[in-house]
Amino acid sequence: MTLKTLLPGTTGATGQQLTLGVMGGGQLGRMFVHAAQAMGYFTAVLDPDPASPAGRVAHWHIQTGYEDEQGLAQLMQRCDAITTEFENVPAPALITLGAHRPVAPGAHAVAVAQDRIQEKAHFVASLPTSGIGPAPYAAIESEALLAAVPADLLPGILKTARLGYDGKGQIRVKDRAELAAAWDQLKRVPCVLEKMLPLKAECSVIVARGADGQAVSFPVQRNTHVDGILAVTEVFEGALPAALCEKARAATIAIAHQLNYVGVLCVEYFVIDDGSADGALVVNEMAPRPHNSGHYTQNACDVSQFEQQVRAMAGLPLREVRQHSPAIMLNILGDLWFPQGADKPARSPAWDRVLALPGTHLHLYGKLDARPGRKMGHLNITGATVAEVKATATQAAAMLGLPALS
Ligand code: ATP
Ligand code: MG
Repeated sequence: MTLKTLLPGTTGATGQQLTLGVMGGGQLGRMFVHAAQAMGYFTAVLDPDPASPAGRVAHWHIQTGYEDEQGLAQLMQRCDAITTEFENVPAPALITLGAHRPVAPGAHAVAVAQDRIQEKAHFVASLPTSGIGPAPYAAIESEALLAAVPADLLPGILKTARLGYDGKGQIRVKDRAELAAAWDQLKRVPCVLEKMLPLKAECSVIVARGADGQAVSFPVQRNTHVDGILAVTEVFEGALPAALCEKARAATIAIAHQLNYVGVLCVEYFVIDDGSADGALVVNEMAPRPHNSGHYTQNACDVSQFEQQVRAMAGLPLREVRQHSPAIMLNILGDLWFPQGADKPARSPAWDRVLALPGTHLHLYGKLDARPGRKMGHLNITGATVAEVKATATQAAAMLGLPALS
């Protein structure tokens, strides 16, 4: 269904206060719900987990599986428009919902982002003249394709075409023997082998696009991963070369236009050494939703990525974004609750000390059990100057027992 303007605080087609729904109840859904509620919308979450972070704070929590017909029917009854918060939402469920309610992003865009092979083809089609493309790769879906892999893709990273996240479903391989063993280990599901690239840096761009085709991007985020999981995002002048940032923003908008995307989209890039001073951009992957690397927008920009998600799905204007403070985001994983090892009792980090530092903004997701590797929250740090924000981040990281910032 096409999207109409859903004015906050009014009565919707359902005869009740306008309600925005989200498929998935994780932390991204929770922060979406908070943003929607701040603007006066009612909210509904569909997630099977009784303790889901978003389900706990929404007006309604529909506690069923993502393909449960009754659950989907309830979500449609309640909601005037529906979005998603994780990319593995089954595309058929979005098609069902989309027949009766505006769904943003739509099933097609989500389906492309769910499959690395389709996703890379989409990048190639979207960026014909930019000089930006995916890492050299080969699809591996059969014994014959495995045997035909060009030698110059090794050493490489074998990634499952579907259902990977936070470095899961990926195996680094040096030679053909390791590649064959890795494909066995991944149960011979469709995969891509990507050439291992020497990364100078990683970055990402978030764009919001409305049904009218208007697209606005956020500043470019510089990301540092540890063990395949985002650890630090830095956004300030000088974090990355300005010309490179402009190219990344333009490429991201082109990718969103080509998908006829409605909602918030994040595209991740590698910066590789090509002999030039700035380095060259390689497009890695996209997420059809707000992204962990965009959390700094909550405290450092005049509109957050979650408010843009609300605006896009409600047909409200998308303004150009102004970043008002240099920012660093530190991801808070469950490991911080176990400074003496995972076999010792959990202990809360010393938030009172961290929050005594200037410009610290704590966001915890309401997850009751801390576990190593589990995303529990993030700390946004803002300051008047880059030097100030870096100094605070260094102090906060030391207090929390996080690795020193480079
Ligand atoms: P996400 O949590 O972002 O969805 P993911 O599991 O889908 O992660 P990728 O983003 O493809 O995986 O890869 C995770 C990390 O592994 C990247 O951020 C990068 O640090 C490293 N990496 C991935 N592909 C390559 C490559 N071709 N060359 C070098 N490093 C790579
Ligand atoms: Mg990634």
